[in-house]
Amino acid sequence: MFNKVLIANRGEIALRILRACKELGIATVAIHSTADSEAMHVRLADESVCIGPPPSRDSYLNMHEILAACEITGADAIHPGYGFLSENAKFADILDAHGITFIGPSADHIRMMGDKIEAKLTARKLGIPVVPGSDGAVHDEAAAARIAADIGYPVLIKAAAGGGGRGMKVARSEAGLAEALHTARSEAKAAFGDDAVYIEKYLARPRHIEIQVMGDGGGGGVHLGERDCSLQRRHQKVLEEAPSPALNAAERDRIGEVCAGAVRKLGYAGAGTIEFLYEDGEFYFIEMNTRLQVEHPVTEMITGIDLVNEQIRIASGGGMSFSQADVAFSGHAIECRVNAEHPDTFVPSPGRIAYYHPPGGLGVRVDSGVYQGYTIPPHYDSLIGKLIVHGRNRVECLMRLRRALDEFVVDGINTTLPLFRDLVANPDIQDGNYDIHWLEHYLAAKA
Ligand code: ADP
Repeated sequence: MFNKVLIANRGEIALRILRACKELGIATVAIHSTADSEAMHVRLADESVCIGPPPSRDSYLNMHEILAACEITGADAIHPGYGFLSENAKFADILDAHGITFIGPSADHIRMMGDKIEAKLTARKLGIPVVPGSDGAVHDEAAAARIAADIGYPVLIKAAAGGGGRGMKVARSEAGLAEALHTARSEAKAAFGDDAVYIEKYLARPRHIEIQVMGDGGGGGVHLGERDCSLQRRHQKVLEEAPSPALNAAERDRIGEVCAGAVRKLGYAGAGTIEFLYEDGEFYFIEMNTRLQVEHPVTEMITGIDLVNEQIRIASGGGMSFSQADVAFSGHAIECRVNAEHPDTFVPSPGRIAYYHPPGGLGVRVDSGVYQGYTIPPHYDSLIGKLIVHGRNRVECLMRLRRALDEFVVDGINTTLPLFRDLVANPDIQDGNYDIHWLEHYLAAKA
C-alpha cells in the first residue's frame, strides 16, 4: 500500500479522495493554487503545497509543479480526481518515468479512449453496441453527405477529441450539413486543438445510461450497474440516479456483462465508465471515461462499495476487495449537483458563503468542499457540492430528497438548490419519465 498520496485536484473531489486515504491510513498531500489556500482539502490534508497562481493552466494543470510537489513531499502516488489531469495520458507517462504511481488506468488505455473515433472502433471490436455512423474521421462534405444519407437524418457531427459537449452540431437535413460540419470543426479546433470530426445518427429521445466498471489490471473485471444521467443542460449532467427508472434487471445484467467482459479483454485497471444512449430498448455506446466520475456516489450508495478505496487498492497492486458475485444492489440513490449559479439564468455566483447548513439524517450524504465563511473563487467550475440521497426504493428516495433539499441552506451566493426543489415536485421526474432533452424543454418553458 502507498505511504503518501498527493491529491492533484480541488473542491469536493479532493476532499472525497482525502477521506478514502485517511480510512486506509495513507498520509495525504494537498496541492492548491493561491486562490485556494483557504480550501477545506488544504486544511484537512496532512501536508499542502502551493503550486501556482489561480489560472488552472498555471496550477492544477501544471505538471512540472505537481511533480516537484511530489518530490518535495515524498508522495509515492497521485490521485487525479476528475477533470484537470485525470485523462491526460502524457501525465500518466511522466509519473511512470519518475516512479510515481498514477492512480488510474494505463496511459495506453487513457489514450485509446481519449480519442472518440478510436474508442468507438475499439468498443465495436469488444462487442459493445455503438451508434450508427462514420467508421472514422470525416474529411469533406461529399463524404459527410454520403454517410448522412446512408444512416438517415438528423445526424450529429462530433469532435474526435470532444468533451464537455463541445464541438457537437446537429444537421437536420442535407441543407444544413455543410454548415454543421464547418462549425463543429472550428469549435473542435478552438477547444481541443484538433479539428477531426465524425458523424453519428442523432437519436431523437434517448436516455443517457452509463455503466460503472472496474478492472484489476490483470484480466479481472466487474460492473457495478448503471446510472441514469439523462437530466442534462447543455450536455452537462445536472441530476443522476441509480438504478435507471427505464431498465429492468435482465437488461442491466445483459449490458453490465458486456461492459465487464470488455474490461476483462482490455486488461483495464481501475475505475471506468462506459457511456451509452438508450432508446427503444437498445444501447448505443458514445464514450468511455477512464476515471472516477462526478456522479460515482450514487453507485456507492446502492452497492456499499467505496470506489475510491478500490481505485487506490488496485493502483497499489492489491487488487479489488470484491468480485461480481459480491455486488448486490440495494434501494435507490439520487444525486443533485449543487452549483454556485443562479437557478434560472445559470450565471456563476462566486463569493462568500454567509451561512451554511447542510442537511443530515438517515440516507443523506453531502460531498462538498465548502463551509460557512468560505469564499468561492471565480476561477474554477461552479460545482460546490453534491447532495446524494438513498432510500429503500425510488419513492422513499424522492421523499427523502425533498426533505433534504428543504433543509439545505447556503446563504450569500446563488445556488441551483431552488431548481432541484422544483424538479422533485415535478410529475415527470416523480414518474421517472424523462429523456436527455427533458430538462432543456422544461427550462425553456419556465423562461
Ligand atoms: P462529451 O464527451 O462532450 O460529453 P458525449 O459523446 O459524452 O460528449 O455526449 C454528451 C451528450 O451529448 C450525451 O449525453 C447526449 O446528451 C448527447 N449526445 C451525444 N451523442 C448523441 C447522439 N448520437 N444523439 C443524440 N444525442 C447525443
